[in-house]
Amino acid sequence: MVKTCVICDAARAVLKRPKTGQQICKECFYHVFETEIHHTIIDNHLFSRGDKVAIGASGGKDSTVLAHVLKTLNGRYNYGLDLFLLSVDEGITGYRDDSLETVKRNQQQYDLPLKIVSYEELYHWTMDEIVKEVGLKNNCTFCGVFRRQALDRGAAMLDVDHIVTGHNADDIAETILMNILRGDTPRLQRCTEIVTTGESLIRRSKPFKYTYEKEIVMYAYFKKLDYFSTECTYSPNAYRGYARTFLKDLEAIRPTAILDIIQSGEAFQIKTEVKMPVQQTCVRCGYMSSNELCKACVLLEGLNRGLPKLGIGKTERLRKQHNLQVSEKPVITETAW
Ligand code: SF4
Repeated sequence: MVKTCVICDAARAVLKRPKTGQQICKECFYHVFETEIHHTIIDNHLFSRGDKVAIGASGGKDSTVLAHVLKTLNGRYNYGLDLFLLSVDEGITGYRDDSLETVKRNQQQYDLPLKIVSYEELYHWTMDEIVKEVGLKNNCTFCGVFRRQALDRGAAMLDVDHIVTGHNADDIAETILMNILRGDTPRLQRCTEIVTTGESLIRRSKPFKYTYEKEIVMYAYFKKLDYFSTECTYSPNAYRGYARTFLKDLEAIRPTAILDIIQSGEAFQIKTEVKMPVQQTCVRCGYMSSNELCKACVLLEGLNRGLPKLGIGKTERLRKQHNLQVSEKPVITETAW
């Protein structure tokens, strides 16, 4: 029997919303999907009129849908934002080179300026070279630290006020679970925040904080958006993989599990007092850091000295052990800013 959309009660229902279980038509799905993101933006005061906003663009489904939706909402609700695409080229052959081709097409499709910053240009190391040194165990630690700083540096080059990323509700719920399982209370506090400040005090936000991954995939599919769907060749991340599988199992039994976990993480943040690290400036590269040297500089020092494990683990202890002098010449050149 043909079902009618429960929202408009007119068109044929073609999908079941993963978030609510409602049977709805395509047009109503677009409307509720976009409107919920609009409400997330407004309720959390993510932007101010005139903000210059860089969309962290990887070519994957999340950032492609984010670029599409932000461009749509900026026009529909007259946010007055100046939007840019900002991509990081980690130097991963067969993965990032292909996904960046998608971002370049998105630039044309959405008519947004694009800036690409690369690890090679900023750090003189590509991820292909780093993996040759460190293997596949700690590669994502290097990649994550460098990407965070590379986004900040790219944003500074674009002179933007704000970076938005495509982290969705599933990503955030997984991170909450991982931080609980690791007992990492400071990270547990930070990971539910919708707005954070990056290394260079540029605001970062997650407009998809309450958006389900399955709905992002559906939106991209029905809108026929151009995105890249291959996994990174160096993706071991077994711990997150287990958290992801566990979350999917919970979602299959109870679709609200994702939002419930986020809500629990937020409640925890209010009730617990955790001593947060004091922010200072890295004496080597000048970026914000919770130590004398930022994590990126310590990791780079290890790579350049042929001691890639130097930055893995307790940074301060290892720094002292290897007599990492704070007055040494900066690894990152002026042009890399
Ligand atoms: Fe980098 Fe790891 Fe992500 Fe690959 S899976 S892009 S190496 S963080």
